[in-house]
Amino acid sequence: MEPKTKYNVLFAASEADPLVKVGGLGDVAGSLPAALRCLPSSADYPNLDVRLVIPFHSTVRQKVKDAKLVAEFSVPHPRKKLNGFAYQTQVNDLPVYLIGGDLIPEDEPVYSPDHRTDALKYVFFSVAILEMAKALKWPLDILHVNDWHTALAAYVLKLRKPTDPFFEYTGSLLSIHNLPFMGAAAEKVVAEFGIPPTKDPKMPVWSWQIPLPMGLQAADRIMAVSPTYADEILTPEFGCDLQQFLMTRHRDLGGILNGLDTRTWDPETDNNIPSRFSEDNLSARAINKQALLDEFQLESNPSVPLLILIGRFDRQKGVDIALGGLRLIKDLSWQIIMLGTGDPLLEESAHKMEAELPGKVRAALRFDAALARRMYAGGDILLMPSRYEPCGLAQMIAMRYGCLPLARATGGLRDTITDDPKGDSNTGFLFAAASPEAFAARLTRALEQFKDQAAWVKMQQRAMRLDFSWQKSALAYAKLYYQIREGEL
Ligand code: ADP
Repeated sequence: MEPKTKYNVLFAASEADPLVKVGGLGDVAGSLPAALRCLPSSADYPNLDVRLVIPFHSTVRQKVKDAKLVAEFSVPHPRKKLNGFAYQTQVNDLPVYLIGGDLIPEDEPVYSPDHRTDALKYVFFSVAILEMAKALKWPLDILHVNDWHTALAAYVLKLRKPTDPFFEYTGSLLSIHNLPFMGAAAEKVVAEFGIPPTKDPKMPVWSWQIPLPMGLQAADRIMAVSPTYADEILTPEFGCDLQQFLMTRHRDLGGILNGLDTRTWDPETDNNIPSRFSEDNLSARAINKQALLDEFQLESNPSVPLLILIGRFDRQKGVDIALGGLRLIKDLSWQIIMLGTGDPLLEESAHKMEAELPGKVRAALRFDAALARRMYAGGDILLMPSRYEPCGLAQMIAMRYGCLPLARATGGLRDTITDDPKGDSNTGFLFAAASPEAFAARLTRALEQFKDQAAWVKMQQRAMRLDFSWQKSALAYAKLYYQIREGEL
């Protein structure tokens, strides 16, 4: 058969900016599908009709008022009659389906603190994705799922393929944005939906009925969101006890670095920052630092480096490593503004440090997208001492805004930041061990480097000139879709 020249691609995720964003997955799902639609025609890959599907979360309901009902369907369950429906809206040129129904609550957050509510929602959503495609009579060439919330759809697809001609030619791809979050609490709900366990002897028994491992078993291809993370998950340190199983799939496993939506993350056009700037006009950037210091009532002195930390307060992000490391060098010259929410103990620890060092520490314990932009635009160094980091977007945004990242050399951080001892290609600062001592040692040297402002500006310009757009990665995904669909595995 001749290869098809146009593919229908359904991109499924739990969140997608600008409709709903909790973390980096929202950034990716909000920008990759659009980037795929914009790829130029080429003989190397088909044209892509990419559409996005997310749950009709309560926050999305509040934002989207013009969505049209396009499909109604039932979601298979051995004992209950479950109804689902899909609305359609448009974000710029991207068609977006919003799935609601019996188990998609209308008044819960995107990720509920109640594990069962979340399990019901995302198992229902995963199954509903396939029912929606059928109800729309939109035959899928590629189903691209992301993380545990939608991974099960790839598994259900594999079960359905032999008996349902509608899915005969549908290939699947699972992107791993965060391996440790497997949806373990959904195990019982998966059984309640009558979805059989994999019983794959290559997999550990505990993982047989958990959404992410089930998706890893079933997907035609598995992509981690950076090449280094793809390697790391094959090791005991990062593999979450699935490394041996993942080794058996290593021919189908790879890594494609996430990109950034460089139109919305652009210091030359960002309306949220007091003074817009470019790499050729870095003096305009100083106004942003001054405004930020004023906003947080910190004393202004251009020779004092302003550190920023933005992200989920979570063990993964190494917030404890940063706080511990900063305590070790509390007498050096620096100031810090932290923005984030999460683990109450880490939040308390940040507050305590603010009280201990009132002249240098501020903690804003909330989610505030506009403040994050003001911080990227005014901070000198972004701290990102992650224990693991599948890709990480904050460091890319920071570099684009001339704020140099200091990060642990892991996952996507290693793939995006250059810390070259000779110093002629540096775009940031990396350290190896996940310890306050290693963090403090690298930061101490970075603070020294800050004193040489001429070299610092060169580094900022180098970082700002890096191409973090989706172009290259979107192309890699398009070629991958082609290989999956045409069976070139
Ligand atoms: P992750 O997806 O693991 O949370 P990433 O670095 O990939 O981490 O992406 C985090 C994204 O969320 C970035 O765009 C960052 O600016 C944003 N972000 C995280 N915490 C906050 C917060 N408290 N307020 C505003 N933006 C935040």
